[in-house]
Amino acid sequence: MINQMDLGQLKKMIEGKVLDNELMSKHTSYGIGGPALAFVEPKSIKDLQMIKSFALRNEVKIYCIGSGSNLLVSDAGINGLVINLEKYFKKILFNNNKCYAETGVKLSKLVKESIKHGLGGMETMIGIPGTLGGALVMNAGAFNQEISRYLTAVEIFNGKDTVERISSNDINFGYRTSSFKSTDIIIGAEFVLNPMDAEEIEKNRDIANNRRKSTQPLKFRSAGSVFKNPKQGQPAGYLIDKAGLKGKSIGGAKVSEIHANFIVNDADATAGDMVKLIEYIRKTIMEKHSIFLELEIKTLGFAEGTFDA
Ligand SMILES: Cc1cc2nc3c(=O)[nH]c(=O)nc-3n(C[C@H](O)[C@H](O)[C@H](O)COP(=O)(O)OP(=O)(O)OC[C@H]3O[C@@H](n4cnc5c(N)ncnc54)[C@H](O)[C@@H]3O)c2cc1C
Repeated sequence: MINQMDLGQLKKMIEGKVLDNELMSKHTSYGIGGPALAFVEPKSIKDLQMIKSFALRNEVKIYCIGSGSNLLVSDAGINGLVINLEKYFKKILFNNNKCYAETGVKLSKLVKESIKHGLGGMETMIGIPGTLGGALVMNAGAFNQEISRYLTAVEIFNGKDTVERISSNDINFGYRTSSFKSTDIIIGAEFVLNPMDAEEIEKNRDIANNRRKSTQPLKFRSAGSVFKNPKQGQPAGYLIDKAGLKGKSIGGAKVSEIHANFIVNDADATAGDMVKLIEYIRKTIMEKHSIFLELEIKTLGFAEGTFDA
Protein backbone atom coordinates (compact mmCIF):
# COMPACT_ATOMS: atom_id res chain seq x y z
CA MET A 1 0.00 0.00 0.00
CA ILE A 2 1.43 3.39 -0.88
CA ASN A 3 1.45 6.20 1.66
CA GLN A 4 1.91 9.97 1.74
CA MET A 5 5.69 9.59 1.65
CA ASP A 6 5.58 7.44 -1.48
CA LEU A 7 3.30 9.96 -3.19
CA GLY A 8 5.78 12.64 -2.17
CA GLN A 9 8.35 10.73 -4.25
CA LEU A 10 6.01 10.66 -7.23
CA LYS A 11 5.50 14.43 -6.90
CA LYS A 12 9.26 14.89 -7.13
CA MET A 13 9.57 12.51 -10.08
CA ILE A 14 7.14 14.24 -12.44
CA GLU A 15 6.62 17.74 -13.79
CA GLY A 16 2.83 17.40 -13.80
CA LYS A 17 0.47 17.48 -10.84
CA VAL A 18 -0.30 14.82 -8.21
CA LEU A 19 -3.39 15.30 -6.04
CA ASP A 20 -3.51 12.72 -3.27
CA ASN A 21 -6.74 11.30 -1.94
CA GLU A 22 -8.65 13.21 -4.58
CA LEU A 23 -12.42 12.75 -4.54
CA MET A 24 -13.55 11.32 -7.86
CA SER A 25 -16.89 13.09 -7.45
CA LYS A 26 -14.98 16.18 -8.63
CA HIS A 27 -14.06 14.41 -11.85
CA THR A 28 -17.26 12.65 -12.93
CA SER A 29 -20.30 14.15 -14.60
CA TYR A 30 -22.50 12.29 -12.07
CA GLY A 31 -20.67 14.12 -9.28
CA ILE A 32 -20.28 10.72 -7.60
CA GLY A 33 -17.25 8.74 -6.46
CA GLY A 34 -14.98 8.32 -3.43
CA PRO A 35 -11.26 9.13 -3.34
CA ALA A 36 -8.56 7.79 -5.62
CA LEU A 37 -5.14 7.14 -4.09
CA ALA A 38 -3.98 9.96 -6.35
CA PHE A 39 -5.27 11.91 -9.33
CA VAL A 40 -2.30 12.53 -11.61
CA GLU A 41 -2.02 15.06 -14.43
CA PRO A 42 1.14 14.20 -16.42
CA LYS A 43 2.81 16.90 -18.48
CA SER A 44 4.73 14.70 -20.90
CA ILE A 45 5.47 11.17 -22.07
CA LYS A 46 8.44 11.20 -19.70
CA ASP A 47 6.01 11.86 -16.83
CA LEU A 48 3.92 8.90 -18.00
CA GLN A 49 7.00 6.68 -17.95
CA MET A 50 7.79 7.84 -14.40
CA ILE A 51 4.22 7.20 -13.26
CA LYS A 52 4.32 3.75 -14.81
CA SER A 53 7.58 2.79 -13.12
CA PHE A 54 6.35 4.24 -9.79
CA ALA A 55 3.17 2.17 -10.08
CA LEU A 56 5.10 -0.99 -10.89
CA ARG A 57 7.50 -0.47 -7.99
CA ASN A 58 4.67 0.17 -5.54
CA GLU A 59 2.33 -2.45 -7.02
CA VAL A 60 -0.53 -0.02 -7.58
CA LYS A 61 -2.85 0.04 -10.58
CA ILE A 62 -3.17 2.86 -13.09
CA TYR A 63 -6.47 3.98 -14.61
CA CYS A 64 -6.67 6.59 -17.35
CA ILE A 65 -9.87 8.60 -17.50
CA GLY A 66 -11.12 11.56 -19.50
CA SER A 67 -13.82 13.92 -18.20
CA GLY A 68 -15.65 11.10 -16.41
CA SER A 69 -18.79 11.72 -18.46
CA ASN A 70 -19.40 8.03 -18.98
CA LEU A 71 -18.19 6.83 -15.64
CA LEU A 72 -19.70 5.57 -12.39
CA VAL A 73 -17.11 5.44 -9.59
CA SER A 74 -17.86 3.57 -6.35
CA ASP A 75 -18.37 5.35 -3.03
CA ALA A 76 -15.26 3.58 -1.74
CA GLY A 77 -13.23 5.20 -4.51
CA ILE A 78 -10.34 3.83 -6.54
CA ASN A 79 -7.41 1.95 -5.07
CA GLY A 80 -4.99 3.18 -7.70
CA LEU A 81 -3.55 6.11 -9.59
CA VAL A 82 -5.99 7.91 -11.85
CA ILE A 83 -4.31 9.54 -14.83
CA ASN A 84 -5.97 12.45 -16.58
CA LEU A 85 -4.63 14.10 -19.74
CA GLU A 86 -7.04 17.05 -19.93
CA LYS A 87 -4.58 19.62 -18.61
CA TYR A 88 -1.49 19.02 -20.75
CA PHE A 89 -2.38 16.85 -23.75
CA LYS A 90 -4.43 19.36 -25.73
CA LYS A 91 -2.69 19.89 -29.07
CA ILE A 92 -4.78 20.03 -32.27
CA LEU A 93 -3.07 20.27 -35.68
CA PHE A 94 -4.57 20.45 -39.17
CA ASN A 95 -2.92 19.70 -42.49
CA ASN A 96 -5.45 20.07 -45.35
CA ASN A 97 -8.17 17.54 -44.54
CA LYS A 98 -5.97 15.66 -42.06
CA CYS A 99 -6.15 16.33 -38.37
CA TYR A 100 -4.02 15.23 -35.41
CA ALA A 101 -5.24 15.77 -31.87
CA GLU A 102 -4.03 14.81 -28.43
CA THR A 103 -6.60 12.96 -26.41
CA GLY A 104 -7.00 15.39 -23.51
CA VAL A 105 -8.79 17.70 -25.94
CA LYS A 106 -12.54 18.00 -25.44
CA LEU A 107 -14.38 16.32 -28.30
CA SER A 108 -16.57 19.42 -28.71
CA LYS A 109 -13.44 21.58 -29.16
CA LEU A 110 -12.09 19.19 -31.82
CA VAL A 111 -15.42 19.29 -33.65
CA LYS A 112 -15.54 23.12 -33.49
CA GLU A 113 -12.00 23.38 -34.87
CA SER A 114 -12.84 20.93 -37.68
CA ILE A 115 -15.86 23.03 -38.61
CA LYS A 116 -13.67 26.17 -38.66
CA HIS A 117 -11.38 24.36 -41.12
CA GLY A 118 -14.34 23.52 -43.37
CA LEU A 119 -14.12 19.83 -42.49
CA GLY A 120 -17.21 17.74 -41.94
CA GLY A 121 -17.87 14.27 -40.60
CA MET A 122 -17.91 14.87 -36.86
CA GLU A 123 -20.28 17.84 -36.57
CA THR A 124 -23.28 15.93 -35.17
CA MET A 125 -21.07 14.82 -32.25
CA ILE A 126 -20.58 18.39 -31.05
CA GLY A 127 -22.77 17.91 -27.97
CA ILE A 128 -21.08 14.75 -26.68
CA PRO A 129 -19.37 15.69 -23.41
CA GLY A 130 -15.88 14.45 -22.59
CA THR A 131 -12.46 14.10 -24.16
CA LEU A 132 -11.23 12.63 -27.40
CA GLY A 133 -9.63 9.78 -25.38
CA GLY A 134 -12.94 8.79 -23.82
CA ALA A 135 -14.70 9.12 -27.18
CA LEU A 136 -12.22 6.72 -28.81
CA VAL A 137 -12.53 4.08 -26.09
CA MET A 138 -16.33 4.35 -26.14
CA ASN A 139 -16.51 4.76 -29.92
CA ALA A 140 -18.79 7.66 -29.09
CA GLY A 141 -21.34 8.69 -31.64
CA ALA A 142 -24.53 10.57 -32.26
CA PHE A 143 -27.05 11.00 -35.07
CA ASN A 144 -25.43 8.47 -37.44
CA GLN A 145 -21.83 9.58 -36.89
CA GLU A 146 -19.21 7.69 -34.91
CA ILE A 147 -15.74 8.85 -33.90
CA SER A 148 -14.08 5.76 -35.42
CA ARG A 149 -15.41 6.49 -38.91
CA TYR A 150 -12.79 9.11 -39.83
CA LEU A 151 -10.00 7.76 -37.62
CA THR A 152 -6.82 6.63 -39.38
CA ALA A 153 -4.42 5.95 -36.48
CA VAL A 154 -3.89 6.33 -32.74
CA GLU A 155 -0.83 6.77 -30.55
CA ILE A 156 -0.74 4.62 -27.46
CA PHE A 157 1.50 4.73 -24.43
CA ASN A 158 1.64 1.13 -23.37
CA GLY A 159 4.16 1.44 -20.58
CA LYS A 160 7.23 0.78 -22.70
CA ASP A 161 9.74 3.44 -23.62
CA THR A 162 8.07 4.62 -26.78
CA VAL A 163 4.66 5.66 -27.96
CA GLU A 164 3.22 3.14 -30.41
CA ARG A 165 1.37 4.25 -33.54
CA ILE A 166 -1.46 1.88 -34.42
CA SER A 167 -3.48 1.96 -37.61
CA SER A 168 -7.24 2.19 -37.13
CA ASN A 169 -7.48 -0.99 -39.26
CA ASP A 170 -5.93 -2.86 -36.35
CA ILE A 171 -8.52 -1.68 -33.84
CA ASN A 172 -12.00 -3.18 -33.64
CA PHE A 173 -14.83 -0.75 -33.09
CA GLY A 174 -18.45 -1.60 -32.46
CA TYR A 175 -21.51 0.06 -30.99
CA ARG A 176 -20.09 2.01 -28.00
CA THR A 177 -17.16 -0.34 -27.78
CA SER A 178 -13.57 -0.71 -28.93
CA SER A 179 -10.76 -3.22 -28.62
CA PHE A 180 -8.37 -0.97 -26.66
CA LYS A 181 -6.87 -2.75 -23.65
CA SER A 182 -7.67 -1.37 -20.20
CA THR A 183 -3.93 -0.74 -19.74
CA ASP A 184 -3.61 1.34 -22.94
CA ILE A 185 -3.22 5.06 -22.48
CA ILE A 186 -4.24 6.72 -25.72
CA ILE A 187 -2.20 9.85 -26.30
CA GLY A 188 -3.21 11.09 -29.73
CA ALA A 189 -5.29 10.32 -32.81
CA GLU A 190 -5.24 11.10 -36.52
CA PHE A 191 -8.28 11.67 -38.70
CA VAL A 192 -9.01 12.26 -42.36
CA LEU A 193 -12.12 14.43 -42.62
CA ASN A 194 -14.39 15.51 -45.48
CA PRO A 195 -13.97 18.99 -46.95
CA MET A 196 -17.57 20.25 -46.96
CA ASP A 197 -19.62 23.34 -47.59
CA ALA A 198 -19.68 25.41 -44.37
CA GLU A 199 -23.43 25.92 -44.53
CA GLU A 200 -24.10 22.19 -44.76
CA ILE A 201 -21.78 21.39 -41.84
CA GLU A 202 -23.42 24.06 -39.69
CA LYS A 203 -26.90 22.86 -40.62
CA ASN A 204 -26.03 19.29 -39.56
CA ARG A 205 -24.52 20.60 -36.33
CA ASP A 206 -27.57 22.72 -35.48
CA ILE A 207 -30.06 19.93 -36.16
CA ALA A 208 -28.09 17.62 -33.86
CA ASN A 209 -27.78 20.27 -31.16
CA ASN A 210 -31.48 21.04 -31.19
CA ARG A 211 -32.48 17.40 -31.08
CA ARG A 212 -30.15 16.80 -28.15
CA LYS A 213 -31.58 19.75 -26.24
CA SER A 214 -35.14 18.56 -26.73
CA THR A 215 -34.55 14.88 -25.89
CA GLN A 216 -31.94 14.85 -23.10
CA PRO A 217 -32.07 16.03 -19.45
CA LEU A 218 -29.12 18.39 -19.90
CA LYS A 219 -29.86 20.40 -16.73
CA PHE A 220 -29.18 17.39 -14.51
CA ARG A 221 -25.99 15.52 -13.67
CA SER A 222 -25.85 12.29 -15.68
CA ALA A 223 -23.49 10.11 -17.69
CA GLY A 224 -25.67 9.93 -20.78
CA SER A 225 -27.30 6.61 -21.67
CA VAL A 226 -26.74 4.06 -18.93
CA PHE A 227 -27.57 0.94 -20.97
CA LYS A 228 -26.66 -0.10 -24.50
CA ASN A 229 -29.56 -0.59 -26.85
CA PRO A 230 -30.30 -4.32 -27.22
CA LYS A 231 -28.97 -5.83 -30.47
CA GLN A 232 -32.51 -6.48 -31.66
CA GLY A 233 -35.84 -4.88 -30.98
CA GLN A 234 -36.61 -1.64 -29.21
CA PRO A 235 -34.02 0.77 -27.73
CA ALA A 236 -33.28 0.52 -23.99
CA GLY A 237 -34.93 3.90 -23.30
CA TYR A 238 -38.17 2.76 -24.95
CA LEU A 239 -38.26 -0.47 -22.90
CA ILE A 240 -37.60 1.40 -19.65
CA ASP A 241 -40.24 4.01 -20.47
CA LYS A 242 -42.87 1.38 -21.40
CA ALA A 243 -42.12 -0.47 -18.15
CA GLY A 244 -43.36 2.68 -16.38
CA LEU A 245 -39.99 3.47 -14.84
CA LYS A 246 -39.64 7.13 -15.83
CA GLY A 247 -39.33 9.08 -12.58
CA LYS A 248 -38.52 5.95 -10.51
CA SER A 249 -35.99 6.90 -7.87
CA ILE A 250 -33.87 5.16 -5.27
CA GLY A 251 -32.14 7.51 -2.84
CA GLY A 252 -30.86 10.40 -4.94
CA ALA A 253 -30.75 8.42 -8.19
CA LYS A 254 -33.69 8.87 -10.54
CA VAL A 255 -34.72 7.63 -13.99
CA SER A 256 -35.02 10.82 -16.04
CA GLU A 257 -38.53 11.95 -16.94
CA ILE A 258 -37.16 13.24 -20.25
CA HIS A 259 -35.05 10.27 -21.45
CA ALA A 260 -35.65 6.93 -19.73
CA ASN A 261 -32.16 5.61 -20.51
CA PHE A 262 -30.61 8.43 -18.47
CA ILE A 263 -30.29 8.07 -14.70
CA VAL A 264 -29.78 11.46 -13.12
CA ASN A 265 -28.18 12.47 -9.85
CA ASP A 266 -31.26 14.20 -8.53
CA ALA A 267 -30.24 14.86 -4.94
CA ASP A 268 -26.79 13.90 -3.69
CA ALA A 269 -27.03 10.37 -5.03
CA THR A 270 -24.42 7.85 -3.96
CA ALA A 271 -22.91 5.19 -6.18
CA GLY A 272 -24.86 2.75 -3.99
CA ASP A 273 -28.15 4.43 -5.02
CA MET A 274 -27.10 4.20 -8.67
CA VAL A 275 -26.27 0.49 -8.38
CA LYS A 276 -29.62 -0.28 -6.73
CA LEU A 277 -31.55 1.61 -9.42
CA ILE A 278 -29.56 -0.07 -12.22
CA GLU A 279 -30.35 -3.49 -10.68
CA TYR A 280 -34.03 -2.58 -10.30
CA ILE A 281 -34.29 -1.53 -13.97
CA ARG A 282 -32.48 -4.65 -15.16
CA LYS A 283 -34.72 -6.94 -13.09
CA THR A 284 -37.88 -5.21 -14.38
CA ILE A 285 -36.84 -5.41 -18.05
CA MET A 286 -35.73 -9.04 -17.63
CA GLU A 287 -39.13 -9.97 -16.13
CA LYS A 288 -41.12 -8.12 -18.79
CA HIS A 289 -39.08 -8.80 -21.92
CA SER A 290 -36.46 -11.47 -21.05
CA ILE A 291 -33.79 -8.97 -22.13
CA PHE A 292 -30.62 -8.37 -20.15
CA LEU A 293 -29.64 -4.71 -20.45
CA GLU A 294 -25.89 -4.35 -20.86
CA LEU A 295 -24.22 -1.32 -19.29
CA GLU A 296 -22.99 1.39 -21.63
CA ILE A 297 -21.39 3.38 -18.81
CA LYS A 298 -18.02 2.25 -17.46
CA THR A 299 -17.52 1.54 -13.79
CA LEU A 300 -14.46 1.88 -11.55
CA GLY A 301 -13.76 0.86 -7.97
CA PHE A 302 -16.52 -1.76 -7.55
CA ALA A 303 -16.05 -5.30 -6.25
CA GLU A 304 -16.33 -7.98 -8.91
CA GLY A 305 -19.92 -9.13 -9.41
CA THR A 306 -21.49 -5.83 -8.27
CA PHE A 307 -23.27 -5.40 -11.59
CA ASP A 308 -24.38 -8.99 -12.18
CA ALA A 309 -28.10 -9.24 -12.76
C1 LIG B 1 -25.43 14.61 -21.10
C2 LIG B 1 -24.63 13.51 -21.76
C3 LIG B 1 -24.88 13.17 -23.06
C4 LIG B 1 -24.14 12.16 -23.70
N1 LIG B 1 -24.41 11.87 -25.00
C5 LIG B 1 -23.68 10.92 -25.63
C6 LIG B 1 -23.91 10.63 -27.01
O1 LIG B 1 -24.75 11.23 -27.67
N2 LIG B 1 -23.17 9.67 -27.60
C7 LIG B 1 -22.19 9.00 -26.91
O2 LIG B 1 -21.52 8.15 -27.51
N3 LIG B 1 -21.95 9.25 -25.59
C8 LIG B 1 -22.66 10.20 -24.95
N4 LIG B 1 -22.41 10.46 -23.62
C9 LIG B 1 -21.43 9.66 -22.88
C10 LIG B 1 -20.00 10.26 -22.83
O3 LIG B 1 -20.05 11.66 -23.00
C11 LIG B 1 -19.10 9.65 -23.91
O4 LIG B 1 -18.97 8.27 -23.73
C12 LIG B 1 -17.71 10.29 -23.91
O5 LIG B 1 -17.06 9.97 -25.11
C13 LIG B 1 -16.83 9.88 -22.71
O6 LIG B 1 -15.66 10.70 -22.71
P1 LIG B 1 -14.90 11.02 -21.35
O7 LIG B 1 -13.66 11.76 -21.67
O8 LIG B 1 -15.79 11.66 -20.36
O9 LIG B 1 -14.52 9.54 -20.91
P2 LIG B 1 -14.58 8.89 -19.43
O10 LIG B 1 -15.99 8.78 -19.01
O11 LIG B 1 -13.65 9.60 -18.55
O12 LIG B 1 -14.01 7.44 -19.75
C14 LIG B 1 -14.69 6.53 -20.58
C15 LIG B 1 -13.76 5.33 -20.81
O13 LIG B 1 -12.64 5.74 -21.58
C16 LIG B 1 -11.40 5.44 -20.90
N5 LIG B 1 -10.47 6.53 -21.27
C17 LIG B 1 -10.71 7.86 -21.29
N6 LIG B 1 -9.64 8.53 -21.78
C18 LIG B 1 -8.71 7.60 -22.09
C19 LIG B 1 -7.38 7.66 -22.65
N7 LIG B 1 -6.80 8.81 -23.01
N8 LIG B 1 -6.70 6.50 -22.81
C20 LIG B 1 -7.26 5.32 -22.46
N9 LIG B 1 -8.49 5.19 -21.93
C21 LIG B 1 -9.22 6.32 -21.75
C22 LIG B 1 -11.77 5.39 -19.43
O14 LIG B 1 -10.89 4.58 -18.70
C23 LIG B 1 -13.17 4.76 -19.51
O15 LIG B 1 -13.08 3.37 -19.68
C24 LIG B 1 -23.13 11.47 -22.97
C25 LIG B 1 -22.87 11.83 -21.64
C26 LIG B 1 -23.60 12.84 -21.04
C27 LIG B 1 -23.28 13.22 -19.62
